Amino acid sequence: MTSIKIPPEHPRAESLRIREKIVKHHHKGVVATAGLIAHGRGEAFDYLIGEKTTKPALNAIKTAAATLLTAEKTVISVNGNTAALVTQEIVRLANVTKAKIELNLFYRSLERELKIKELLEKAGADEVLGVGEDASARIPELGSERRRVDPRGILVADVVLVPLEDGDRTEALVKMGKKVIAIDLNPLSRTAQKATITIVDNVVRATPKLVETSGKLKQNLKKCHEILLNFENKKNLGESITLIKERLSRLAEKGEYITSEDEKHEL
Ligand code: ATP
Ligand code: MG
Repeated sequence: MTSIKIPPEHPRAESLRIREKIVKHHHKGVVATAGLIAHGRGEAFDYLIGEKTTKPALNAIKTAAATLLTAEKTVISVNGNTAALVTQEIVRLANVTKAKIELNLFYRSLERELKIKELLEKAGADEVLGVGEDASARIPELGSERRRVDPRGILVADVVLVPLEDGDRTEALVKMGKKVIAIDLNPLSRTAQKATITIVDNVVRATPKLVETSGKLKQNLKKCHEILLNFENKKNLGESITLIKERLSRLAEKGEYITSEDEKHEL
């Protein structure tokens, strides 16, 4: 496989580098073909939010960190795209929040599961749940392979972090009484709408910030409880949508792409 050289001055250089990573891992068998399309849907929304971590996203990240640190049993649910984009950060987050890592693929195949497991283990993961026959438990209300979970992981967790999840599964996990933290660039997706805490941001930016914030809050559980009292997901999600609306309004007024001067008003 030949990879393209991305000139650093290209206006979408970072976005193209992320895309290259996804393509590379698709060739390796880590990212499913449909994962390429899912990534494109995310890219479109990243364009709309301005390709940076917004204030409401930071607020949700802080709340997510507080939730992970105060929970009994936390699981980070990983799919092919997440494993490809933030391998190291997932392992770091699991360590700092004492969470388990579980594979949860939309298109399950043992071959792909083993590849993702290997990738995570190479990055330092002690244990990866949900591989093959280990995913022997079932989420109620979901059909086929998508309902399989590990009885030591998602089945018994009180908090599940789902970067890039599907709407049906998010809803089913919430119905099981779990707190679901989603990272999703699309504030309108069912995942974003149904999750308990929604981080509208790119996993590439949100995951390292989540690691950093969790590290800072770890020693201050009182602060964590205060943060939890002051968060309303619907309101915060609304702010993410408003941000897109206002950004588009400014763009519409000018009829041209927003300049760096305009961007200053956004964060
Ligand atoms: P839902 O099932 O939640 O209604 P959907 O069917 O519209 O969502 P899916 O194809 O199930 O979308 O999942 C892809 C989701 O992942 C999209 O919402 C997309 O915005 C999001 N996504 C893709 N890449 C990223 C990324 N790098 N960071 C954050 N979100 C992403
Ligand atoms: Mg979907």
